[in-house]
Amino acid sequence: METIELRGKPVVNILRENIIDRVNILKEENLYPKLLLIRVGDKDDDESYKKSILKNCELLGINVDLKELSEEASEKDLEKIIKQGNEDEKVHGIMVFRPLPKSFNEKRISLMIDEEKDVDCMNPNSLRKIFEGKEDGFLPCTPKAVIEMLENMKFKFEGANVVIVGRSLVVGKPLGMLFLNRNSTISICHSKTKDLKQYTKLADVVVTASGKAKFLDESYFTKDSIVIDVGINVDEENNLCGDVDYENVFGKVKAITPVPGGVGSITTTVLMDQIVKACEKQIEKKKGE
Ligand code: NAP
Repeated sequence: METIELRGKPVVNILRENIIDRVNILKEENLYPKLLLIRVGDKDDDESYKKSILKNCELLGINVDLKELSEEASEKDLEKIIKQGNEDEKVHGIMVFRPLPKSFNEKRISLMIDEEKDVDCMNPNSLRKIFEGKEDGFLPCTPKAVIEMLENMKFKFEGANVVIVGRSLVVGKPLGMLFLNRNSTISICHSKTKDLKQYTKLADVVVTASGKAKFLDESYFTKDSIVIDVGINVDEENNLCGDVDYENVFGKVKAITPVPGGVGSITTTVLMDQIVKACEKQIEKKKGE
């Protein structure tokens, strides 16, 4: 059967066009969106995301102030940088790479980020809003990227049966709320779920965020499944892959996202969108004062 390959690029292009238009409007008023990007330590995972953020900022005309602290830096050093960012009117968004080294109290740090500048939705108060059904603040970028992908294929959220594999606070739980806010019916599965297939086979959409390379094969899906693979893993040959065994599943489902080139490629663009949104909101607020 013919399976639709859901690539991230067309979604990225639409989002970028909109971001560029808005950045140009701001520039006409001499206003420049700016991100304060903070990294502690030198984890490899952060390095590729950092590069992608810097590249996207340059492409879209967003300024970045990158602060890199060594793993030995103190919590006070990090607090000082966040505090300065909160107070600096020229900084519109603040993002700290997660997870922080174990010696840092991540919850305390995340609460320090001004909610109006929390473009990566790190502050629990930003998340709380989503759980209350409000989406006027900032959304976690990966769950929002999943929604963008489905909106682009004109997916009908209302009444749809959605299964999410994974219940982390970064992906699974907030994503569940975004679907619920759109009147889908959700099941959030995890490592203790009994007979996962029983859920995935009945779903209109299965979103996988388990971090287990190629763990879902064709037996988890039907010809009507839409499969959104959030996983970013490496297989036995050290190649990047998702949670779904793509080669095995392609041709047997209605639609599927590849890894790489699927949801992951939208995530950074969602972050860019939120930085510009932060800038617009802060300027609007200042005009109203
Ligand atoms: P995580 O915190 O490790 O959570 C993994 C979740 O998957 C947990 O809830 C776990 O269940 C569940 N799980 C693990 N094995 C399972 C199994 N056999 N059956 C059912 N559920 C299982 O990971 P995460 O941070 O959410 O990330 C998940 C994946 O998404 C990773 O591959 C990560 O690299 C990727 N990711 C991608 C993006 C992007 O932009 N595309 C962004 C963030 C993360 P328990 O709770 O019971 O342990």
